[in-house]
Amino acid sequence: MPDKYHIKTQPIPPRRPRIGKIGVVDWREDCANCHNCVKKACVFDRYREEMSYIRGLREMDAVFFQCMGCFSCVQQCTKGLLALSANPVYERLGNTYWTPQIIETTWAQAESAKIPVSGAGYRGRFSGLGFDSMWTDMSEIVRPTRDGIHGREYISTAVDIGRKPALLHFDAGNPAGGLPPLVDIPMPMIIDMLPRGYRLPNLLPVIKIVAAQTGVIAIIDSKDWQLAGNDLDQYLPNLAIYLDASAPLPGRELLTGMRLVEISDDGNAERRVRELKQINPGIVVAVRVEMDSGGIERAVEYARQPFVEVLHLVADDNGNEIGEKNPRFIKDMVRSVHNSLVESGLRNEVTLMAGGGIALAEHMAKQILCGADLVTINLPLLIALECTLCRDCNDGQSCPALIGEIDIKYGVGRMTNLIAAWHDQLIEVMGAMGIREVRRLRGEVGRALFFEDLEEATFGKLFGSRKNN
Ligand code: SF4
Ligand code: SF4
Repeated sequence: MPDKYHIKTQPIPPRRPRIGKIGVVDWREDCANCHNCVKKACVFDRYREEMSYIRGLREMDAVFFQCMGCFSCVQQCTKGLLALSANPVYERLGNTYWTPQIIETTWAQAESAKIPVSGAGYRGRFSGLGFDSMWTDMSEIVRPTRDGIHGREYISTAVDIGRKPALLHFDAGNPAGGLPPLVDIPMPMIIDMLPRGYRLPNLLPVIKIVAAQTGVIAIIDSKDWQLAGNDLDQYLPNLAIYLDASAPLPGRELLTGMRLVEISDDGNAERRVRELKQINPGIVVAVRVEMDSGGIERAVEYARQPFVEVLHLVADDNGNEIGEKNPRFIKDMVRSVHNSLVESGLRNEVTLMAGGGIALAEHMAKQILCGADLVTINLPLLIALECTLCRDCNDGQSCPALIGEIDIKYGVGRMTNLIAAWHDQLIEVMGAMGIREVRRLRGEVGRALFFEDLEEATFGKLFGSRKNN
């Protein structure tokens, strides 16, 4: 029996001062110097940590904002000298989609490789836009599914990428004409190219090692191929080259070493697939379909073509339909493509990869529930390196997170930790849903609840349907 899929991790602390959410303001005047000062009773030991932090301080503007906000010291100080304050730097992290909470939790996972725990229950909103308008049904969170989470039973996260025949024809006991090539990876995740504005040249050598260590595949633009290093031969099974409309065909050595290649949706896909298969018949070719206003229709049309094996549906960085004023969200667009293919009996023949807006491990599970076979991610791996998504690099300014100065060990360790934490969370979610194979999670909307459906069922009869603007 093959070994269980396991990613080796180790704690990798941040290089930069932590940007926490809350700090304590201590008005020392009038302090009664109580023998049993409430500061000593902080269960997180934050006051002692702050003193040692100040002693080693190298940057004067890096204030200690690591309070957990339990209010214990604030409420119990006999003179009322303590107060909590929100960190304005924290509140400026990211943007409306990549919120400070998402960035903070990604940093924590990249440091420790552990599943984030909010503790004392979730106090946030219970619905919102995008993936927040959908919930997973955790009603199976009982034995024996917990056994999978604790490793006593195997929950498989492996997926196959490629075209699967609808019917098998046998000739003398063997499938007639052979079987189409399939790529199997141990986790439903592919590392996509970073968006143009964030393509930092020193990250490709890191990303190729991360892909090899975790067993997933990283897509590298053919234009950036040279930046990935001189030792690519050993990494080829975990790399896929992206060829846009103007890119020439790669050399035979490259294509015969790789398992997956991606081409653009430029009207010449059939010819390009034929050329690539002539060089390496065992390679799987994915077609990248940008999810703009015609993206769903193009994807469904491609899936009808027998030469198409894999479709990579890509929304913008925030998961929105590209170039639209009132965009649809990636989960809804993928669900439309999935449902169309189910209706036409083609769904099992093609693989759907979905990218754009996958910011948390739960998004991976939700996107698969909406019909993707696997997801592609990019920005979470950049955030793992302490990026704040300030976009200064996009404007040609220096990077406040000093990403250009990272060493390989730090970069590989932080990205690997994040992927391991996501894998553990996927197992956690699947275990709680009573699903032991991620292939069976695909399109399993019976295990999901959608805000729109619940609202319609609850209030639709009273107030009518919600108008979509
Ligand atoms: S509010 Fe709680 S966590 Fe923060 S410093 Fe006071 S006791 Fe510690
Ligand atoms: S921290 Fe800002 S400048 Fe640095 S990589 Fe991230 S977005 Fe770019």
